[in-house]
Amino acid sequence: MKEAFSSISGLRERLAPLRLAGKTIGFVPTMGALHAGHRRLLETARAETDTVVASIFVNPTQFDQKDDLDYYPRALAEDMALCRGAGVDFVFTPTAAEMYPRAQLTWVEAPALEEHLCGLGRPGHFRGVATVVAKLLNIVQPTYAYFGEKDAQQLAIIRRMVVDLNLPVSIVPVPTVREPDGLALSSRNKRLTPEERLLATALSRSLFAARDLAAQGETSVDRIVSAVKPMLSAIPQIRVEYFSVVDQETLQPVREIVSQVLFAGAIWLGNIRLIDNVTFAPQIG
Ligand code: AMP
Repeated sequence: MKEAFSSISGLRERLAPLRLAGKTIGFVPTMGALHAGHRRLLETARAETDTVVASIFVNPTQFDQKDDLDYYPRALAEDMALCRGAGVDFVFTPTAAEMYPRAQLTWVEAPALEEHLCGLGRPGHFRGVATVVAKLLNIVQPTYAYFGEKDAQQLAIIRRMVVDLNLPVSIVPVPTVREPDGLALSSRNKRLTPEERLLATALSRSLFAARDLAAQGETSVDRIVSAVKPMLSAIPQIRVEYFSVVDQETLQPVREIVSQVLFAGAIWLGNIRLIDNVTFAPQIG
């Protein structure tokens, strides 16, 4: 890693000549507590672009629960080491005061994409995400920006925001990185007790089972959900927030699987919320 910047102007001054010289810029926004999922995004950016910028910013405007913001893991020294190892050129670590020097009066919202899945249980979350991503994209002005498929609703909203607002950037989706037992990597996994960690695999197992049923030709969402939801609801320590089948782009619920869909779930183990999803495209013809 060449340099870390906490000021917007410092980062912009460093990137401007590179952009003028025709270098491509790859950008990976994160909230830190980096793990192998983030590393996959950074390595993908490293392989595809000349200059790699990562941001580490725990964005206060996307937290609907103050506790979640307070307890969100922070590990800056380890994060810097991981960025160095992944070949990142510049790390942007702004403070909240740098990103929000005065009350934010302008917001990016996509209500039709927010009123599903995680948006239902986390009011205002995606408005905070879309707004901070728009701000970061305007600060970094990357050629490509990399987002994990793990956060499928976030990815759908950002892809649509870039189209609707004509932002000059290409969004690159990166497949979900999982533990060997299927659990999607997440900064929140660190807060699970050993027993919860074992039970957590039920989420990915239920999603894989749903996808397997669809792959065997089952097209009824009701039948798929009734078959696999007990894999979660039968475990007393798990509270299911949602288990849904939606169109991957519009996030509208589907009843019959006739085009590409997203199987997506959110569960609570104690006070830890975990999300995951898998996609499925039926063979046509
Ligand atoms: P976060 O720091 O949780 O905001 O995540 C930053 C980026 O890393 C987002 O684009 C996430 O979708 C992505 N990400 C988080 N976990 C994973 C994972 N297990 N596999 C792939 N990408 C991930």
